[in-house]
Amino acid sequence: CEEKLVECTFTNVTWQGNSRAPFRFLADAFETMEATTSRLALIKILTQVFRKIVNTTPDDLLPCVYLCTNTLGPAHEGLEFKAGEATVLNALSSATGNSVKVLKERLTKLGDIGDLAAECRTTQQTMFKPPSLTIHGVYQEFRTMANLAGKLSTKEREKHLQKLLVSASSKEAKYIARIVLGKLRIHIAYKTVIVALATVFAPCPKSDAKTTDGMDVILKEAAATLNAVYSQLPVWDRIIPVLIQNKSTEGLEEQCRLTPGVPVGPMLAKPVKEASDVLERFQECSFVCEYKYDGMRAQIHYLTDGNVKIFSRNAEDDTPKYPDIVESIKFALSKNNTVTSFIIDSEVVAYDPETNAMKSFQELQGRARKEVKIEDIKVPVCIFAFDILFLNGESLLKWSLKDRREKLFDTFSTIQGKFQFTTSKVFTDWEGVDEMMDEAIKAGCEGLMIKALTGEYSSYEPCNRSQNWLKMKKDYMNSIGDSLDLVPIGAYYGRGKRSGVFGAFLLACYNSETEEFQTVCKLGTGFSDEFLSSITKFYKDGHILAEPKPYYGVSDTPAIRPDVWFEPCQVWETRCADLTMSPSHTAAKGMLSEEDKGVALRFPRFIRIREDKPVDDATTADQIVELYCNQKSKM
Ligand code: ATP
Repeated sequence: CEEKLVECTFTNVTWQGNSRAPFRFLADAFETMEATTSRLALIKILTQVFRKIVNTTPDDLLPCVYLCTNTLGPAHEGLEFKAGEATVLNALSSATGNSVKVLKERLTKLGDIGDLAAECRTTQQTMFKPPSLTIHGVYQEFRTMANLAGKLSTKEREKHLQKLLVSASSKEAKYIARIVLGKLRIHIAYKTVIVALATVFAPCPKSDAKTTDGMDVILKEAAATLNAVYSQLPVWDRIIPVLIQNKSTEGLEEQCRLTPGVPVGPMLAKPVKEASDVLERFQECSFVCEYKYDGMRAQIHYLTDGNVKIFSRNAEDDTPKYPDIVESIKFALSKNNTVTSFIIDSEVVAYDPETNAMKSFQELQGRARKEVKIEDIKVPVCIFAFDILFLNGESLLKWSLKDRREKLFDTFSTIQGKFQFTTSKVFTDWEGVDEMMDEAIKAGCEGLMIKALTGEYSSYEPCNRSQNWLKMKKDYMNSIGDSLDLVPIGAYYGRGKRSGVFGAFLLACYNSETEEFQTVCKLGTGFSDEFLSSITKFYKDGHILAEPKPYYGVSDTPAIRPDVWFEPCQVWETRCADLTMSPSHTAAKGMLSEEDKGVALRFPRFIRIREDKPVDDATTADQIVELYCNQKSKM
């Protein structure tokens, strides 16, 4: 298409098809993106980056996408940089000749490891010009560093990083240091990558559809295709080669399908507070209410080679943690020898086999995590299966929930206390739902999940939080409808009984558009004394910051300023009485009618740490707006 000839506006770096794409090119793009806040402008720059690479050295697109998203591979591979600030400081010291002590002092002043790396490079003279860095080379070096294991791996990692830093220009060093620490912060969320790739690979319009409107439709369709494919197969290594080969998003859906062994983004639910919300949504169809168990989400895959894999909500491979689940699955299948592969969705709950009662979420959390042996398991678990997404080579995502449930019930046999189906009942109106809610609470569940059984709302939508699944929690029916998952970004010293520990915390939601953590409340209730001691120790052991991060959205109100700032590294589930507009907090600021105010939680109370959520999966500013608007309309 004509637009595909557009050159890059942010750099004059070019290269030929017979060499590799220079890392300088990406560093220039990162610098421009860092200074850009408009999402449209960001998409434009990223599109130029991808297009230039596709047109010149298409093999560099895959490493480029991983570097832009600050990742090393698909989430379920679990490949992590494994380097902390100390590793970067040591490598910088060896590469530049500055002592670690001097570097640390400078870092305290500058506040950003990237700025420090850039500054050191500018002052450093080298005798010979080292070879210039390529996108592919930097990515490979990062992967090598991540794969190092064993006693000497930290030193080895430092050496690899030092090698990269010696070859890097000032700008390149800045982004290398940031990437290694997972702090690239160029405002690129995965959605931006999807839209930019879709723009590059959208099919060319037929000549009669070349109007702006025609192009928009084509781009939207291409982005929707790519999004749907990525949520079913979140592996760029599989998708990008197909895009490059087809030179288009056309044909992608057929070639990149749901695959056992690769976790699918889990379908998510919207909170509801009362019957009318549910009935309004499911007017035309029957719906099923299931107990909402209080455990951990588990997506269980059965591969054609007989292997079982268990993935968390976060696509982490939890198989080594649950050898008992692997065994239970094999028992649940034992009466059915026609099954060659499947993917099911379930909740794993701590369970007492003696009393046949479910145990608390805390008991489950206390279970050992790594390389667990069946004979050492102290907290038995039961799988409560509620959906099946794939069976014997066929995707069932588009099937109605009614048909999927029938398949689930037909395929597996239940084993009391090890593998059960969720307790469920089908309804066509509200009659009996309240009673079921009471039963669920008595059984130790959080409430009910309500799902359409047939019709347009009943397919399985990976990654999507839509109204096709509704969640209703008993203790929240009169309040805002859901708890919030927030990130502590600072704390206030305790007084009196709480002196010596933190007594209250500053919590933030995540604005995925601006990539900011925006404050939403000061939290001081719901903690035990033991929790306050251990959490104070945790943050004091290396998670306190000298300065707030540039991406913390905090108002100037003096009463909000915490005594210490935290690294954003935990997610805390928090409940509140309701939401209110506030001049002191910045959550969702500018997104509601009172543009100069943010939203704040009233009477917040700590519930628990969400270990299964990374910080950028915290409650978003969009969700806060939605909860606030729902609450207002009810009032
Ligand atoms: P969210 O991202 O929606 O906030 P969450 O992890 O905080 O998700 P909840 O909001 O409490 O979880 O509700 C959805 C979760 O409930 C699912 O992710 C799943 O782990 C759990 N769950 C328990 N029982 C069921 C069920 N019958 N059907 C679906 N999910 C269930």
